Amino acid sequence: MKALFADDAYLSTCEATVTGIREDGGIELDQTCFYATSGGQPGDTGFFERADGTRIRIEGTINGATKAEIIHLPAADQPAPDIGETVTLHIDWDRRYKLMRLHTACHLLSVVCPYPITGASIAEDDARVDFDMSETIDKAEVTEKLMALVEANHPVYIEWISEEEFEANPDIVKSKNVRPPRGLGRMRLVCIGDQATVDSQPCGGTHVSETAEVGQIHIGKIEKKGRENRRFRIRFGEMPA
Ligand SMILES: [Zn+2]
Repeated sequence: MKALFADDAYLSTCEATVTGIREDGGIELDQTCFYATSGGQPGDTGFFERADGTRIRIEGTINGATKAEIIHLPAADQPAPDIGETVTLHIDWDRRYKLMRLHTACHLLSVVCPYPITGASIAEDDARVDFDMSETIDKAEVTEKLMALVEANHPVYIEWISEEEFEANPDIVKSKNVRPPRGLGRMRLVCIGDQATVDSQPCGGTHVSETAEVGQIHIGKIEKKGRENRRFRIRFGEMPA
């Protein structure tokens, strides 16, 4: 299974061959552009187009026992494809692109608020990030700093580094928030800014390629969840007056 989204987040369609159908109806392919739920980013939805033009609606994408297994979950009452059948994959691009914009915004928020992250969850129109922090912080001020990073239009790119390289230069990972996964041989770093001057952190998700694509966002809410936990909500659009 080739996870094409890891190298090209903008790939909204591709051809693939059906390699397996699971007992629960989940579909496995030789390659896919459908992102599987992970790291707070929900898996892709969309449809598979068959040779005769009919469609198989996909309502979610998840990992199997390992990250190497990606399972496409058809909606109820969809026809099952045949093993060996070639299908054309189509992601619900509007939804995925919003997820990419908000996911990238979460990285920018971790630059503006350099506190340990205890949780994150991204939806189509709202992303939440939980920080281990006790300080009170003004949402207008955070919004302003976020938008400065968006408007600076920093490049966002992926860099793969070996674990040895990381051991030798632990500062390569600028965010102190994230503990890089070990034992995989190499790490996927998401870098922001020329030479990763703004940020770099391990992440397997999909992101926009320059920060201006995030567009207008604001902090909708900062909730106090316990003495040392603050929950930030990032939303699209201007901050309501
Ligand atoms: Zn990410």
